[in-house]
Amino acid sequence: MDNPFDSAQTQIDQAVKIAGIKSKFLDVIKQPQRIVDVKVPVVMADGKLRIFHGYRVQHNNARGPYKGGIRFHPQTNMDEVKALATWMTFKCATVGIPFGGGKGGVEVNPKELSPKELERLTRGYVQLIVDVIGPQKDVPAPDVYTTPQIMAWFADEYSKIVKKKTPACVTGKPLNAGGSLGRDTATGRGGQFVLEKLLKISDPNISDEKTVAVQGFGNAGENIAELLFDAGFKIVAVSDSTGGVFVTAGLDPRNIAKLKKKLGGIKSIGEHKKISNDQLLKLDVDILIPAALENVITDANASEIKAKIILEIANGPVTPEADKILSGKKVVVVPDILANAGGVTVSYFEWLQNILEQKWTAMEVDSKLKKIMDKATRDIYQESKLYKCTLRQAAYILAIKRVLKAEEKRNK
Ligand code: NAD
Repeated sequence: MDNPFDSAQTQIDQAVKIAGIKSKFLDVIKQPQRIVDVKVPVVMADGKLRIFHGYRVQHNNARGPYKGGIRFHPQTNMDEVKALATWMTFKCATVGIPFGGGKGGVEVNPKELSPKELERLTRGYVQLIVDVIGPQKDVPAPDVYTTPQIMAWFADEYSKIVKKKTPACVTGKPLNAGGSLGRDTATGRGGQFVLEKLLKISDPNISDEKTVAVQGFGNAGENIAELLFDAGFKIVAVSDSTGGVFVTAGLDPRNIAKLKKKLGGIKSIGEHKKISNDQLLKLDVDILIPAALENVITDANASEIKAKIILEIANGPVTPEADKILSGKKVVVVPDILANAGGVTVSYFEWLQNILEQKWTAMEVDSKLKKIMDKATRDIYQESKLYKCTLRQAAYILAIKRVLKAEEKRNK
């Protein structure tokens, strides 16, 4: 099953079945409530006009305003964005923050656009979705190939249209444009808190070396690699879209980041052994961290996975068929809706600071994040023991119950 929206539906169905959840609103929480489809015209540097296809999917707002990133990627498509929006609803419910789920996408390769063209595309996209977004309606954020600068253009365009400075209309902004301290590292930091808590409470059978491989050395992947390196984990392999490197003795992710920036991609780093993205996934490591895109661990390669723990920093990297195989092999999969929820949690903090006109210190952000991630990890671990199920199934059981409760309340 390689359609991510089908995967999301299967994940919901499995949890409903395991916990025997019954509600007339089940069908409501499976489908997006609204989909906005836009064609964004952009005058390019050569004077020609190009039209970019974009969308905003609003999955569910029973627990609060829709919340979720915007992806700029040449291969993004409606089913992917619908899946990502669905996962956001259950992610926000898993960590208990007062948001629903949404997601946006634009079919574009931002690497081919100049900064001016990218700015025009972002502003054009905002103009076309402005009626359905806003601090109390739907609050976007960065995702794959979108940056704090893009979020700053987004907030500026929205503020111009509504004629009021409104930083809370989007999160992931740069610090000088209403961003929060700790947002840039939040997804990695949250993943680290979850992993460390889980290692403490579940005592899994991992080696003293705590070896780690990270696929996808972007925003989230680079951060978690650096944070785990600082915490004493041994990072043996990292990759990006160009390929990967593998060093048995361990590597320093900050050094890799410097080289990647200088050379343009990890594949061009000369001094380390090269591996493909596929080989990286099959390495004999304690912890495998997919941090790139969906569907990288499927029924075609799941039986060859040797890692003891998979920490899903990417959204949807493991398909339901692969989940089944991994569970049979006793591989612990820490689900995306818990493992990468640090990002949306600090986005919530950013939104709150904007609304309350406050500025929190990095320590405040970090300690509030730790509290939320520790509690969610404990809750899901206990739920998995109660229902004798995987962590993903447990997270969905918990989250579905919370979303249904809100849905039932507002329909009373
Ligand atoms: P990013 O654009 O910063 O980085 C993506 C990375 O993946 C890049 O290094 C790119 O080279 C690499 N990549 C792309 N295609 C690849 C492939 N086929 N094989 C290997 N690597 C590939 O994006 P990001 O924000 O770090 O997001 C990565 C994942 O994490 C996505 O699934 C996203 O939804 C998820 N996520 C991100 C955040 C966040 O705060 N950034 C929060 C939650 C979840």
